[in-house]
Amino acid sequence: MKNPNGHEIIQLFEQFSPKGLAMEGDKIGLQIGRLNKKVDRVMIALDVLEHVIDEAIEKNVQLIIAHHPIIYRPLKNLLTDSTQGKMIEKLIKHDIAVYAAHTNLDVAKGGVNDLLAEALGLEDPEVLVPTYEVKLKKLVVFVPSSHAEEIRQVLGNIGAGYIGNYSHCSFSANGTGRFLPGEQTNPYVGKPGRLEEVEEVKVETIVPEPLLKKAITALIKAHPYEEVAYDVYPIENKGEVLGLGRIGKVSEMTLAEFAEKVKTSLGVSSVRVIGDLSFKVKKVAVLGGDGNKYFMNAKFKGADVYVTGDIYYHTAHDAMMEGLNMIDPGHNVEKIMKIGLTKILQKMCQEAGYSVDVFPSEENTDPFQFV
Ligand SMILES: [Zn+2]
Repeated sequence: MKNPNGHEIIQLFEQFSPKGLAMEGDKIGLQIGRLNKKVDRVMIALDVLEHVIDEAIEKNVQLIIAHHPIIYRPLKNLLTDSTQGKMIEKLIKHDIAVYAAHTNLDVAKGGVNDLLAEALGLEDPEVLVPTYEVKLKKLVVFVPSSHAEEIRQVLGNIGAGYIGNYSHCSFSANGTGRFLPGEQTNPYVGKPGRLEEVEEVKVETIVPEPLLKKAITALIKAHPYEEVAYDVYPIENKGEVLGLGRIGKVSEMTLAEFAEKVKTSLGVSSVRVIGDLSFKVKKVAVLGGDGNKYFMNAKFKGADVYVTGDIYYHTAHDAMMEGLNMIDPGHNVEKIMKIGLTKILQKMCQEAGYSVDVFPSEENTDPFQFV
């Protein structure tokens, strides 16, 4: 097992939740502290409040990964007798870094919205608000026939060649490779200074851009040649669409029954409901956090009910007039990310052979209580 530093952990994390998925202007990434230090205790939090920082200090945490940025509006000053200043001072004194993954974690596959959709039991969830299209590249590599199968496997295993529900897609054609090894070479086939002809296979496949670097590194490692001949082409094919919120089906029930389901599956004592409680619900849209401005996306996509937080009085009126039912379980249901993300990062660290303890913050950060 390896003792990783903060950079190595964040590099792993960003494979799951790349920064590029964030909405424009969002405040994400490392916000406080440093990553160039040994990290063996990582705490996953929804909000970084003072009692969460105290928990991190008590649990000897070196890195907090939080969903909500600790610094959202630019700081005008840093006064250590103000609440925010005191919090930042505590973090710096205890050398605790804070890294924020906000809208990029909402959009990420397996991120906040997928966790919410899963908790609500949505079948075949699709993206509610598209925000990002994964670009595709064509990767072509020339390989001696003896190694063609291995190269196809290596590329397929890292996720190249996904077309719809098919994986490991590729095309191969046989041909003749020619090369003249220079005097200083140590060729796998042939001799330095002699023109060589080899039966080769041209293997082509499609790679999502975020995986391209990984694919090239893997193919160079698996390829027997000293100098690997490969080409990367830009292509116009439509890639996978990612985005905010999810929409999917549930087994039919009344709005009242579904509201109960929301309470139990998201662990809240009450929800605000807009609409006719006897309405039959089958298609459900969910969007973690404040989803006010996307209620028409839910309506257009045919949702019977839209579950989101922080619903404003006037949005509720607008939705009522549009005939869209809504349920507000509170913004804090995003707390689901604490356990979800802990499991994901634990697994990634284990696979990378990192000796690191990842755990969720146990502090409640919901500011509201119902009396
Ligand atoms: Zn949020």
